Amino acid sequence: MNRLEGNVALITGGSRGIGAATALRLAEEGADIVVTYENSSERAAEVVEQVKARGRRGLAIQADSAVPQALTAAVDEAAATFGRLDILVNNAGVFLVGPLDDLGPAEIDRTLAVNVRAPLVASQAAARHMGEGGRIISIGSNVAERAPFPGLALYAMSKTALVGMAKGLARELGPRGITVNVVHPGPTDTDANPADGPNAETIAGLTAVGRYAAAAEIAATVAHLASVDGRYITGASVHVDGGFTA
Ligand code: NDP
Repeated sequence: MNRLEGNVALITGGSRGIGAATALRLAEEGADIVVTYENSSERAAEVVEQVKARGRRGLAIQADSAVPQALTAAVDEAAATFGRLDILVNNAGVFLVGPLDDLGPAEIDRTLAVNVRAPLVASQAAARHMGEGGRIISIGSNVAERAPFPGLALYAMSKTALVGMAKGLARELGPRGITVNVVHPGPTDTDANPADGPNAETIAGLTAVGRYAAAAEIAATVAHLASVDGRYITGASVHVDGGFTA
């Protein structure tokens, strides 16, 4: 399907995991792709090569999402390089978990900077470039809805914030034809949460389907929301979690 032909998409944290899978899926649907990354320059370059192998233009930009100026500059560079910006996927995230007493100011600040402030800053910057049909999609988490273990308070708080952002921005940007949504993945096989990790069996057992998702299964829903087929969905939280929150 070429539902995204002629569109330009920026995916934050597109060098690995769900972000990389999303970059490739959106490229397969016709979009030109910009990915940001923090450290993994080689992995980001590989994603760009794979985007080009699908016949699309690709660009990787090093930008720490915790630094608002860097993020805004990356958004502006994406729009300047490819002439427009239609889709923003706020995917980059950190997963700092632990008992309440172990959460120092550094962990709290980092989580809020990357998981909460960055999606708002990137959305602000991206909306300036978007017209009718624009799409802002943030990657939340199943634990925004159900935090089944101790130690998740900070991370769950940060992901729940995206729900409020999506609702507020949906109202603000709706009149311009821009939709804003959150995709909440369940346990997904990535470097951050490998399906063969020490707690994976327990975590998979909390889903209804009894298994981890592949990153491509999350990307498929992002593609739907990004396409014209998703045009009447806004301010919504879409769970792609194998029934984790059922
Ligand atoms: P990975 O750890 O596999 O990949 C994280 C990606 O984000 C990398 O591309 C990384 O870049 C990038 N990134 C991290 N911090 C920054 C930063 N400060 N600035 C720019 N880029 C950054 O994670 P996942 O693919 O598993 O997670 C992606 C999103 O999905 C996150 O928001 C996560 O919270 C969410 N999620 C994941 C679940 C899972 O089970 N995997 C479940 C629910 C939600 P680099 O390669 O340079 O480090």
